[in-house]
Amino acid sequence: MPIYFDHAATTAVCPEAAQAAYEVLTGNFGNPSSGYGMGRRAAADIKVWRADVAAALGCTPAELFFTSCGTEADNWALRAAVRAMRRRGNHIITTAVEHSAVLNTARALEEEGFRVTYLKPDKTGHITAEQFKAALEKDTVAVSMMLVNNETGAIFPVAQCVKAAKAHNKDILFHTDAVQGFCHIPFTPKGLGVDLLSISGHKIGAPKGIGALYIKKEVQGKIKNLMFGGAQEDGRRPGTEPTAQIAAFAAACKVAKARLNDYDTQVRRLKEYTLERLQEQVPNLAVVCPGDAPHICAISLPGYPSQMVMTDLDGRGFCVSNGSACHKGKPSHVFAAMDLPTDVLKGVLRISFSHANTRAEADALAEALSQIVKERMTVMKG
Ligand code: PLP
Repeated sequence: MPIYFDHAATTAVCPEAAQAAYEVLTGNFGNPSSGYGMGRRAAADIKVWRADVAAALGCTPAELFFTSCGTEADNWALRAAVRAMRRRGNHIITTAVEHSAVLNTARALEEEGFRVTYLKPDKTGHITAEQFKAALEKDTVAVSMMLVNNETGAIFPVAQCVKAAKAHNKDILFHTDAVQGFCHIPFTPKGLGVDLLSISGHKIGAPKGIGALYIKKEVQGKIKNLMFGGAQEDGRRPGTEPTAQIAAFAAACKVAKARLNDYDTQVRRLKEYTLERLQEQVPNLAVVCPGDAPHICAISLPGYPSQMVMTDLDGRGFCVSNGSACHKGKPSHVFAAMDLPTDVLKGVLRISFSHANTRAEADALAEALSQIVKERMTVMKG
């Protein structure tokens, strides 16, 4: 097995989640819409699993709607928010460093006639509440601001921005993409004050192919479907429920939530240790973002293209990312928006951790990177 430092891209399915999925796939596989016992049992189980995920998030089960992934939840949230408010205005605020699930939805909405302000981060990857307040306009109707950036680990001031937005116009609908925050940092949708919030299973030890959208009870009347079909998810999100994924998501939530208290200290310490070792051992290594969230940081080897270093590390049995997995080799829009010097920008790598990473793995990474730099330097000089 490679040494895995790319947990912001995806995580291993935890044994509890794998077991829960296995039991559903092989035994309790009924369609929750079927009227006989097996179907009724699946429907009853979904109730329990929904309550488990809702408890981990800190909302009521009636406010949680399962989707196929975080991307679907983001699309649904933003599209439904602007549709609900269409008559009131056509201005949206988001950030230039959202995940492409939000960014490309915003771009599509621009093509449909909406105006979008993309807030630019500073050189550290942060956005301020003051910056947000200054962007509010008379016809602002919807906001989408992520909680934790998936490439820098920066935490955005969502609660403060919700307050400012609602003071400006109480009807503005506020969405946050909390995919990298959920079960990584403590928060609740109510505490943030948001109307809509997206999460995804595969970032917390559940399989790929399951996510959820939180829709605050008070705004549910305004939020229309993204897709149309059967009556699943209270008629809001059609499609036969992926019961195995939902069961696994619930199991993973329980495990991750129980770990959350220790997670911050443990994972943050390991990240700090890794950054120290890397700085000690790898000449000219720059810490681009130490990351506010415990599990994500970004470094750069100026002069060494990140694709090359990632491939070299892969050859030595390490998984790190040269930006978000969704970019597939293209330069990251997140680091580009931070106006980093070109050589730093080209050399950016994201390292992201889980509770299962060890100091021995961090030592091995520092050693491998220092070897790669030595070898590449020799090749480049030769
Ligand atoms: N939002 C953020 C911040 C993410 O990091 C990701 C995944 O990388 C997504 C949304 C998309 O989630 P999914 O992979 O479940 O579609």
